[in-house]
Amino acid sequence: VTPSPFLEPGHRTQAGSLAIVSLARDDFDAIRLEQSSGAVDGYAEGATLNTRFGSFPHSTLLDIPWGSQVRASAVDTGSRGRKRRLETTDDDTPVVSQDEGGKAPAKKATVASSGFIYILRPSPELWTSSLPHRTQVVYTPDYSYILQRIRARPGTRIIEAGAGSGSFSHASARAVYNGYPKDETDTKGKVFSFEFNEDRFHKMAEEIESHSLTGIVQIQHRDVYRDGFMVDGKSPDATAIFLDLPAPWKALQHLSRRIGSSPLDPKQTVHICTFSPCIEQVSRTVTELRTLGWTDVDMVEISQRRLNVVRERVGVNLPNERGNSQTPADVLEAVTKLRKVNQQNKQFQKSQIAQNKGTAAEPMDIDSSAAASETAPAPGKLPADDDHDKPWMQGRLTHRSESDLKTHTSYLVFAVLPPEWTEEDEEKALAKWPCGQ
Ligand code: SAM
Repeated sequence: VTPSPFLEPGHRTQAGSLAIVSLARDDFDAIRLEQSSGAVDGYAEGATLNTRFGSFPHSTLLDIPWGSQVRASAVDTGSRGRKRRLETTDDDTPVVSQDEGGKAPAKKATVASSGFIYILRPSPELWTSSLPHRTQVVYTPDYSYILQRIRARPGTRIIEAGAGSGSFSHASARAVYNGYPKDETDTKGKVFSFEFNEDRFHKMAEEIESHSLTGIVQIQHRDVYRDGFMVDGKSPDATAIFLDLPAPWKALQHLSRRIGSSPLDPKQTVHICTFSPCIEQVSRTVTELRTLGWTDVDMVEISQRRLNVVRERVGVNLPNERGNSQTPADVLEAVTKLRKVNQQNKQFQKSQIAQNKGTAAEPMDIDSSAAASETAPAPGKLPADDDHDKPWMQGRLTHRSESDLKTHTSYLVFAVLPPEWTEEDEEKALAKWPCGQ
């Protein structure tokens, strides 16, 4: 079995592996790394990833540690390894790859690009951010919570319907992975996935194979409302269920222990989660769950926020001539004061360098938050009153809520089905119990 890059990615990139390219924050692309086919006519280098930050021949992305930063190629990618040809701008200035950050696009078509990318190992989280959307998907904030609530862990056997775009399938595969099963009878952790739409079923089947998840994720083309969750006439013996369906209540009749062929593990407690955008759907699901004997029914909505904590420097309190904190009247005044503070900052850092005999950092602009935090008072030391003059204390500490991480805002309904308690179980319990003798 070729190990799945999601489960056992190894330490370095290799040809044939899926890789996630990070172009900018929250901007990811999934690619399949290809072996270079060698130079043709002195130019071609085989597969090349072309981005707005430059071109990246796959040969530059292979056999490097996951997480590496890779600079854009010079335009003349064919001469790599031989003599490097320099492209020239109109003013005949030679340009080669430079490190100007991922956001710097090439200025002219003929100029070598100056951007870079990061090459990341595939993870369910990154796959969720880069996968081809065939449906609405479940996002990381939701599935991380769902997986712990339904007790998904190595060895767990999960039922999932519908598979949709496979976002939840990848996350749950990693959660239950406990080695590849040797054969059909091996009951290692597995995801039993069901999809009604034929096109999505085929795409999902291809993806499972190309991501080497065969044996971990088993997909069935099925209308689960009508035909339930048995697999080849056998019970998946599931202990965890996730339903992301338009009408989950219609599938619940097949998730009972009181039917002839139950897909549930008869000896273990089963945990379920259903995922529905409307409260009316929740209401119908809850009624059906109660009717079928599920307990501990509750509902949760995940509301994820990303907070960015910063010091605000413009338009907030700055020291006046006497060193007292004061709100500037307008932007001009704020900029003038900032310049002054910047000057003080440089002087302060110069004096630090002199004191530390050159061991401190070079003077930097006040705008460099990294410089400010490096020179901030040691943790646990309360700032003295006159610390308010110091650059890292300038401005008010604020936090802003960043644009929300994508979540498919839905209500999560959870419930628990205890194992069936038989007369035999009762007798055994009474036999063990001192009072029962
Ligand atoms: N959870 C998926 C993910 O994270 O990518 C997205 C699921 S999508 C919102 C819902 C899927 O349920 C659709 O692909 C749809 O075709 C499928 N579906 C709807 N009714 C179904 C049924 N009766 N049986 C099986 N699948 C069904």
